[in-house]
Amino acid sequence: MRVAMYYSNKKVRTEKMPVPKIKRGEILMEVKASGICGSDVMEWYRAHKVPLVLGHEVAGRIASVAKGVRKYKVGERIIAAHHVPCMRCHYCRAGHHTVCDTLRSTNFYPGGFSEFIRLPAINVKYGVFRIPKNVSYEEATFAEPAGCVLRGQRLAGTQKGIVFIVGAGVSGMLHLEVARLHKAKCIVVADVVEKKLKMAKRFGADGVINAAKTKNIPERLKKITGGRLANVVILCASAKPALRAALGSVDRGGTVLIFSAAEKNAAMPLSVNDIFWRTEVKILSSYAAGPREHIQALRLLSEKKINVSGMITHRLPLTEAEKGFKLVADGRNSLKVIIEP
Ligand SMILES: [Zn+2]
Ligand SMILES: [Zn+2]
Repeated sequence: MRVAMYYSNKKVRTEKMPVPKIKRGEILMEVKASGICGSDVMEWYRAHKVPLVLGHEVAGRIASVAKGVRKYKVGERIIAAHHVPCMRCHYCRAGHHTVCDTLRSTNFYPGGFSEFIRLPAINVKYGVFRIPKNVSYEEATFAEPAGCVLRGQRLAGTQKGIVFIVGAGVSGMLHLEVARLHKAKCIVVADVVEKKLKMAKRFGADGVINAAKTKNIPERLKKITGGRLANVVILCASAKPALRAALGSVDRGGTVLIFSAAEKNAAMPLSVNDIFWRTEVKILSSYAAGPREHIQALRLLSEKKINVSGMITHRLPLTEAEKGFKLVADGRNSLKVIIEP
């Protein structure tokens, strides 16, 4: 079978590998669509593990099932989570499934940018979900990123106030859609790329801020919202100025959700008293998605409550994965790039 072997953001080669053999309790999945995630192009995070096959936003069909798999059969359309929790440990029992040790050590093989992947037994148990009939493979690849967004907003408690999203990539757009679903009163999106801000408007943002052209972002935000800072700020960008803008834009009593990873070795540029003294501000993070959020995301896709197909800017065959990685790493001329093996 063919795989897209990742060496760096500029070097992704089509290589051959044997189709994985499956053992008891495992599934062989034929990948039909596989999304490139912002985290896939975080080169500093990947550099020490290369070469490897990336890809964790996968949708496909079951090509074969091994002995002991009773719940699924050949031909079913599924998505598969790459990381799955144990559902039993200290963290899982406390609802923090995504920081479970098992979740951090599990994965399917060799990775989503491949014609076939082997789903280990524990992934079959806790990380395989059927795709609803009216959801396409490419839409279903959004179950994982949308699941991460649902988890983040649940933890942050985006009720009905002002939501400020910093960064208008795919996760920013998904946050925008989920915040609208949660009946946010006003949603403002900031980015440095004008094209993406136009897109955010199309996706229903009440206001946008071009961060490259705005000196004082919190003041600009207040102008849009009628005088208030944000109840919830969601950081979906890794650049240092984005973090500063996020921390400066939260209202008293509000919450800052650190959703995306930052640049390598980034530090918090904050004055503790400015941020926390007499403010009752909360800063929190969320990571990944658990089974609950995958199921919820698929349901929202099926009910057409979130529109994801409008975010797909490129569909490429596996042999053009390198082009896809370049597009996502650059970020200016693409939103979601889907590889179709
Ligand atoms: Zn992802
Ligand atoms: Zn656990």
